[in-house]
Amino acid sequence: MSRGNLFVISAPSGAGKSTLLKKLLAKVPHLAFSVSHTTRNPRPGESNGREYHFVDRPTFEGMRDDQAFLEWAEVHGNLYGTSRAAIEAQQAKGIDVFLDIDVQGASQLRDCRHPGAIFLFIAPPSWQELERRLRGRGTDPEETVQLRLNNARREMEDAGCYDYLIINDRLEEAVDTLRAVVIAERCKARRSPDGQPIDWEKVKG
Ligand code: ADP
Ligand code: 5GP
Repeated sequence: MSRGNLFVISAPSGAGKSTLLKKLLAKVPHLAFSVSHTTRNPRPGESNGREYHFVDRPTFEGMRDDQAFLEWAEVHGNLYGTSRAAIEAQQAKGIDVFLDIDVQGASQLRDCRHPGAIFLFIAPPSWQELERRLRGRGTDPEETVQLRLNNARREMEDAGCYDYLIINDRLEEAVDTLRAVVIAERCKARRSPDGQPIDWEKVKG
């Protein structure tokens, strides 16, 4: 059984990463979303264990000290981390895992040359559109929006360090582009477009 890939995806807040991932996961088989741990409060409509595992600071810090996280970072004033065990279990089953993490977390994984990691950066079509989406989401108070916009300038500077850049202008086109990347990487790993291992012995006869 060949191991699943690890897709690491970053974007400034409001670029549409969660929306894109939801659509991708509904379309592409053998793909899983890594549910991170965070100390931030749930937004209306979010539920524990689906978008995030919502934990308090002492719990997060305990896990961090026990090396439970593959990477972790403080982002917009809250702590976020990827559970090592959860992604390992999925990859071992041949399932590709998507990590939605910030530029600091992605940089940690690049630095440690995490095996099979593929890095994607999602950008909005313009700065004005980023502002519009962030406010239009209607889930964050204005001071949180301002903090996220200020951080976005710096985050955007990291786009050049990623393997792929996808502009999320028209949503369906961006989903198709993302799907194309997943399929290309599966072909590179000698797997079929839907993620199954290719029986090369049978193919070559
Ligand atoms: P992120 O996860 O990157 O912070 P979200 O997925 O929450 O961003 O998207 C932010 C807002 O932008 C949401 O209201 C979402 O519906 C909207 N949005 C996402 N992608 C597009 C798009 N391609 N065109 C227009 N609106 C979009
Ligand atoms: P949000 O609060 O909008 O859900 O996420 C804020 C930021 O935290 C986003 O850039 C998101 O990618 C990032 N993030 C979410 N989970 C993790 C994680 O496990 N690790 C790191 N480093 N960043 C994360």
